[in-house]
Amino acid sequence: MPLVPMRQILDEAAKGGYGVGAFNVNNMEQIQAIMEAANETNSPVIIQASRGALKYSRMIYLKKLMEAACEEYPHIPVAMHLDHGNSLKTLQEAIDLGFTSVMMDGSLAEDGKTPNTYEQNVEITRKAVELAHPLGITVEGELGCLGGIEDGHGAGLSADQVNDHLTDPRQAEDFVAKTGLDALAVAIGTSHGAYKSGRKDPKTGEVLPPALAMERIHQIHQRMPNCHMVMHGSSSVPKALVDIINQYGGKMPGTFGIPIEQIQDGIKHGVRKINVDTDSRLAITGAIRKVFFEKPEKFDPRDYLKPARDAAKLVYIERMKAFGQAGHAGDYTPMTLDEMKAVYRKAR
Ligand SMILES: [Zn+2]
Repeated sequence: MPLVPMRQILDEAAKGGYGVGAFNVNNMEQIQAIMEAANETNSPVIIQASRGALKYSRMIYLKKLMEAACEEYPHIPVAMHLDHGNSLKTLQEAIDLGFTSVMMDGSLAEDGKTPNTYEQNVEITRKAVELAHPLGITVEGELGCLGGIEDGHGAGLSADQVNDHLTDPRQAEDFVAKTGLDALAVAIGTSHGAYKSGRKDPKTGEVLPPALAMERIHQIHQRMPNCHMVMHGSSSVPKALVDIINQYGGKMPGTFGIPIEQIQDGIKHGVRKINVDTDSRLAITGAIRKVFFEKPEKFDPRDYLKPARDAAKLVYIERMKAFGQAGHAGDYTPMTLDEMKAVYRKAR
């Protein structure tokens, strides 16, 4: 099966009332783990790469790995998505490489750090749609800013600053109308990475869950029931995975993620794409640390990369079941980019 436009995966998810995990990849083991998980649970999937991932994998390797994944599992609909594109040039590079979906993160300037004005965001996101839709490519945009930094991308906002950059539901409606995008990433207080909470219990000093503004998602869904929303920074950072890392010599104190129940509440209210990166990183790191600790005589990379791949796969399976995409791979006939082009032409 060729890669499918992400828009189709999101439209189908909306029809079926479920969410789809968008998992970040850098290498072969992650792609294989995602595909094995998708195959076992019969799930459509979104595989995404950040600019950092493309740089690390030197572009062409990721493309070829994705092609291999589609060839091995022809019955699984896969969208390949660029995460946090920073300029039209980056979007064009991804499209040339064969991506079927791109994110234009106009919430930040091209440096990926400085917050843009609303007008700047509208302008660049609209241009991204003008570039991508005639080619049948899906566009995700972002309104509001997230906390944390991932792969050098992010405004690095503190927990307090995050609350000043939440998505305004009324502005969201204007943004979607003016840009014509396919999917809207919302800022509701999530952060990228493993440390999502700046809140501590004043008495015990224990880290508390991040306070999420779920009501913003409810309000946006009420205003725009057909708008596909995206939750970024939505790893759950399970304690069990962090414990394994710490047990075998790692040092990750005070981590916190997004509880699955909150993501599921989002899915009930229009969230169709859930970005998960950190959880697979944790699973991989823990599995490798365990081998290094228990079998220090091992030196064949397969001895630790295979358990790492297996550990990541378990995380993907859990998420696919929790988000509801499991069982839905065979629901529809995959569209080509040419067919998607025609849909966009009609809508104009
Ligand atoms: Zn993100």
